[in-house]
Amino acid sequence: MKWQPQPPAATSLTRAQYSGWNCCWCNARLTNGARSAGRAQGSIGAHDMSVEVYECRPQCTQRPRHPRRTPEKADQGGTP
Ligand SMILES: [Zn+2]
Repeated sequence: MKWQPQPPAATSLTRAQYSGWNCCWCNARLTNGARSAGRAQGSIGAHDMSVEVYECRPQCTQRPRHPRRTPEKADQGGTP
């Protein structure tokens, strides 16, 4: 099972992010490809605002890293 960061709160998203047009992390327009980033949670009053959001493909630079992985080790792998 791959680790996935919890998307930002649905209420903090821009309209474009909420609509799935922009990346939920870096707000880039997703014209060249996107993948699901999970489900943003949130509510306004009685209304459930949770929605599936999207991120850059293959890897968004603003995407949060795994909290338990040390960046020094993860980034020193080199190219195969
Ligand atoms: Zn992005």
